[in-house]
Amino acid sequence: MERTFAIIKPNAFLAGNAGKIIARIYAEGFKIVGMKKLYLSKREAEGFYYVHKDRPFFGELTDFMSSGPCIVMVLEAEGAIKKWRDLMGATNPANAAEGTLRREFGDSLEANATHGSDAPETAAFEIGYFFSGLELLM
Ligand code: UDP
Repeated sequence: MERTFAIIKPNAFLAGNAGKIIARIYAEGFKIVGMKKLYLSKREAEGFYYVHKDRPFFGELTDFMSSGPCIVMVLEAEGAIKKWRDLMGATNPANAAEGTLRREFGDSLEANATHGSDAPETAAFEIGYFFSGLELLM
């Protein structure tokens, strides 16, 4: 079993789509090991996305991520990291395949509805950024 870190981003939360996304997560066979709603500060969003700090979109991305509530989750499944990224679809909703979450709920390249870790090392960092071990007891 593998764990990954997921976010329902502010555009999806504010549009009332969190419930539909969570239903898909269960339907696809993930276990939700941890889940909470947060309203990130700009500084907290910058800390989360620090690997992108030199990218041209960093300022706008962290403004967006602190513009409304998010739901942060730890998902567990066999091959959870790839399984969740496959379910999300391509970064740009315009390029995301039919049936993926970003295709259905994404509004733009930036406001693309969901986040998912891209490797075991990033999953470990991202889970630890938002959750303590005590919050992930099953
Ligand atoms: N992003 C953006 N502009 C870009 C590329 C990415 O606003 O040109 C945002 C988008 O919300 C994306 C996040 O930055 O989800 C992280 O980018 P990454 O390339 O890591 O994509 P992901 O792993 O989320 O698919």
